[in-house]
This record gives sequence, structure tokens and C-alpha cells, in this order.
Amino acid sequence: MGIFRLGVFGGTFDPIHSGHMHIARSVQKNFSLSKILFVVAADPPHKTRKNLIALAHRYAMVSLATSEEPLFVPSLIELESHASSYSVDTMRKISRSIRPSKGEIYFIAGGDSLLEVNSWKESEKLLTSYNFIFVRRPGSDACNYENFLPEKAVPRVRDLTGLGRNAIRRKIEDERLKKNRLFIVDADAPDISATRIRNLASAGKNFRSLVPKPVYSYIQKLRLYGGS
Ligand code: ATP
Repeated sequence: MGIFRLGVFGGTFDPIHSGHMHIARSVQKNFSLSKILFVVAADPPHKTRKNLIALAHRYAMVSLATSEEPLFVPSLIELESHASSYSVDTMRKISRSIRPSKGEIYFIAGGDSLLEVNSWKESEKLLTSYNFIFVRRPGSDACNYENFLPEKAVPRVRDLTGLGRNAIRRKIEDERLKKNRLFIVDADAPDISATRIRNLASAGKNFRSLVPKPVYSYIQKLRLYGGS
């Protein structure tokens, strides 16, 4: 048996959309991840928006979007006992379930998160205890990461943007041997955000192509974001 590589993809998923699915598929392939947990944020400390829709709906949509993907698993770990909404606590909890000699953990986030990660709880500890994959997001440039990361994390950055697929794979294989890298990758993520989808839905406009099909049906059936 090879090493178990667990991806952890956290988000509010309000709603989950094709951008999320695209980056999850891309990093799963490039990093040969054994499984990706989609951790639905229960009470996200960094989202100032008050009117997130209910966790039950966000989780239902993540379940629908991942149901045909054997390696993508929805997670409610933030609701479990002694859980918190802080990434550092969730990662600690997840890492306890994996023996370090047998597995590696990769935290997956959009490049826009790189710009705010310094304000996360125990950011230095978090960023130096696990592998991270920051996926470039259209409209958000993550090239001056030195300005946004805690000092100790900067030498761990491996910027893989601009490399071809084979070069990326080779680099990942080399780097894997060292622990806890912060990879920056370009996955050609589509320019989609949950905000745009909510706006389109509430204006009664078409957003069919921006979300997985069953998620679209669910939003329409329940009129989750208003609209006609
Ligand atoms: P909102 O518009 O409500 O802020 P969002 O589209 O950013 O939502 P989240 O659930 O907050 O969706 O995203 C979870 C993670 O996925 C975040 O780390 C975010 O940066 C990343 N992400 C979301 N959409 C994309 C995208 N199109 N490209 C790259 N990363 C993305």
C-alpha cells in the first residue's frame, strides 16, 4: 500500500460550484490524493456575511455535487464534539486520525485565501504543520506571497505556476519527501464565485452552467436564493 494522501478542502459552499469541483479534480490528479474531504464551514470566522444559508442546505449541496465522485467525501467535522470553526483546530482533529508515518495531509484553498491567511488563528503553526495547496484564482494575484505569510512559512513556498503538467508532477514528487510545503498552483480555475451565483439566482437569471446539475435542481426546487 502506498502512502495515504488526504486533501482537506474547506469552504462555506454557499453554494458549492463548478469552480470548486474543477480545482478539486485538478489537485486530486496532480498530487495523487487518495481522498478529498469537503469540510463545510459551520460558523466561519472569516465570513462577515451574516445571511449564510443553513448548514443543512450547504451540506446537502456538497453531498449532491460529490455523490458521483468516489474520492470526494462531504464532511461535517466542524459539528463534531470539541470542534471549532478554526482551520487549525479542524486540521488538528483530522491529523489525529492519520498516522504520520502512513499519511500526508494537504489543505486546499483558493489563492485569494493566501492573502488573508496571516489573520487566521495560529497561522504560523497551521502553515508549518501541514502541506498546503493554494490554487490561483482568476482576479486574485498571489505572487507577492512574502508580504502575506508569516515569516517562518515563506521558505516553504513552492510556486509551481507557469510550469507544464509533467514539470509540476516531477516537482511535487521531489518536494514530497520534504515535509509541509506550501504549493502555489495554477489549475486554470474558471472565474466563478458563490457570490455571483447567489446574485444571478436572486435576480432570476440563468446560472445553470456554473454549478453541478443536481445542485442547480436543488437550488431551483427550494428557491434557496430567491428569484422567480
Ligand atoms: P463567496 O463568493 O461566497 O465568498 P467562494 O466562491 O469563494 O464564495 P467558498 O466556499 O468561500 O466559495 O470557497 C472555498 C475555497 O475555494 C476558498 O479557499 C476559495 O478561495 C476557493 N475557491 C472558490 N472558488 C474558486 C475559484 N473559482 N478558483 C479558485 N479557488 C476558488
